[in-house]
Amino acid sequence: MKRFLNLFRFIVPYWAYAVLNVIFNILSAIAALFSTLMVIPFLRVLFERQEITAVKPESFELNANSIQNYFNYFMASIINDYGKTTALITVCILVVGITFLKTGFKYVANYYMAPLRNNVVRDLRRKIFRKMVVLPLSFFSDSKKGDIISRITSDVQEVEQSIISSLAMLFRDPITIILFLVMLIYMSPQLTLFVLIMLPISTLLIGRLGKNLKQKSLSGQKRMGTIISIVEETLNGLRIIKAFNAENKINDRFDNTINTYNRIMIKIFRRRFLASPLSELLGTIVMVTVMWYGGTLVLDGKGNLSGEALIAYLMIFYQIIAPAKAFSTAYFNIQKGLASLTRIDELIDADIEIKEIKNPVPLEGFKDSIEYKNVTFKYEQDKVLKNINLKIEKGKTIAIVGHSGSGKSTMVDLLPRFYDPIEGEILIDGVNIKNLKIKELRTLMGIVSQDSILFNDTFFNNIAFSKDAASENEVVEAAKVANAREFIEASKNDYHFNIGDKGNKLSGGQKQRVSIARAVLKNPPILILDEATSSLDTESERLVQEALFELMKNRTSLVIAHRLSTIQNADEIIVLHEGEIVERGTHTELLAKNGHYKKLNEMQNSTN
Ligand code: ADP
Ligand code: MG
Repeated sequence: MKRFLNLFRFIVPYWAYAVLNVIFNILSAIAALFSTLMVIPFLRVLFERQEITAVKPESFELNANSIQNYFNYFMASIINDYGKTTALITVCILVVGITFLKTGFKYVANYYMAPLRNNVVRDLRRKIFRKMVVLPLSFFSDSKKGDIISRITSDVQEVEQSIISSLAMLFRDPITIILFLVMLIYMSPQLTLFVLIMLPISTLLIGRLGKNLKQKSLSGQKRMGTIISIVEETLNGLRIIKAFNAENKINDRFDNTINTYNRIMIKIFRRRFLASPLSELLGTIVMVTVMWYGGTLVLDGKGNLSGEALIAYLMIFYQIIAPAKAFSTAYFNIQKGLASLTRIDELIDADIEIKEIKNPVPLEGFKDSIEYKNVTFKYEQDKVLKNINLKIEKGKTIAIVGHSGSGKSTMVDLLPRFYDPIEGEILIDGVNIKNLKIKELRTLMGIVSQDSILFNDTFFNNIAFSKDAASENEVVEAAKVANAREFIEASKNDYHFNIGDKGNKLSGGQKQRVSIARAVLKNPPILILDEATSSLDTESERLVQEALFELMKNRTSLVIAHRLSTIQNADEIIVLHEGEIVERGTHTELLAKNGHYKKLNEMQNSTN
């Protein structure tokens, strides 16, 4: 129920559409009622039971009796003046006319339903997307990308198809049912009382069936997440899959998942298909019972019910069964959709672990120093960083070296608060970074990492990524500093050349220089370089390194370098080993120590 209310929040802004929808549904239901009632005069004419009231009723009032009298007079005068056949045709034309109104109103009602449904779906997707962007990185290392994609696509669609479409029914059908019931009570209270006892029994029966549908749906949607994950991974890894002849393997993996999904869906469909025949059978049983009871009432002459009226009564009653049936189908559908709604809520309500405090300390640029104080961090069980202490004065370059897996990237990831330390604190100009506005904190930093993450967009937009409205000039300047001008200007559309998915139309070195240009344009006081040149060949490394030196000028830099030759001029070099700082000093000091650094250095010299 709580989930339902949650969803309702999304509907509230579009209440006007809902109101219009309800109004036109009421009009449509009224027209439906009148078109059904037309069966009474039709049968009366046919069986020659039409009373010939030749006197025109004195005044017209808007009540059932008056309408009836007026109509009787109208029918009588047609029979008198033109004959019975014309009277029949008149009734037929009236039925068509009223039905035209009924369907017309229905269309208008749905016309307003369309924006309601789609706007809600759009808002849901927007909300999920926004949430995805603010969630901390740690959230995504625990969950699969495909699963998130499936929540924003297929789960939202499921909610739309099952719940929101059923909501339409919840607006419409009660109106029809109530209106028709009122008519039935008016026509025969006795028979209607009997009906009212019959209906709940059948509703209960149907309710039982819907129960475990939700559970099944949930596991179905989870599988869908896995399927999308596999597709996504496969698309990314096609090159390797082909090279390793692993097509069969990946096909098998896909088949396994999709077959499980298939089995679940077959079960779901079978159960859902049960809703329709079951309610039809129950509907018929109820109908026949009413026919029998109503028939005895007519034959016994009890309850003031004529034969024609009973037929009209049955026809109206029959029309209640359809929305009542739709109601039970809606119940099934909602159960199915609730599973998806749960998955969406899981994401929307996911905890944002990296929180900003209520009244953050305002930050005016970077003035003095960055300090790691007794910082300890772990992702899961093992501590990845242990008791790190480090002070970086403004304008200095600090290099971090160590074997792969020693915690270098983790250490620099703590600075922009991609993760928070579990012990200790990190200070900027003496203020704990947890007390700063996250946005302001991140404004201070530019990051260039090993895999240059670029977007499927133009050079211009990739470089101008950090700025809302960068000028052509700024972008060209940045490209120049980053040694990227030459190849950009040699490309087909200059700065407006689309670099392809993840920048795949560029070489590694070119991609890296574009990402450096992006950092240049942001012009941050603090620079984080995480193995920015390690994936490059010697020639591009030289070009990129030049660009980096240019970028590092007048900035405070944390440099993780794969090749030690590039950091010999750093003000201080930190050697990390299994999450601890084991040595620190300048290049010459460290070489003199004859320890870890010396060994790292020798290993590189022998391979180079
Ligand atoms: P380096 O950059 O020095 O190669 P990292 O800082 O990337 O090392 O990793 C340090 C340790 O933390 C490694 O043992 C790695 O397995 C682990 N690690 C890194 N990222 C994650 C993560 N998102 N979740 C769990 N463990 C991680
Ligand atoms: Mg690393």
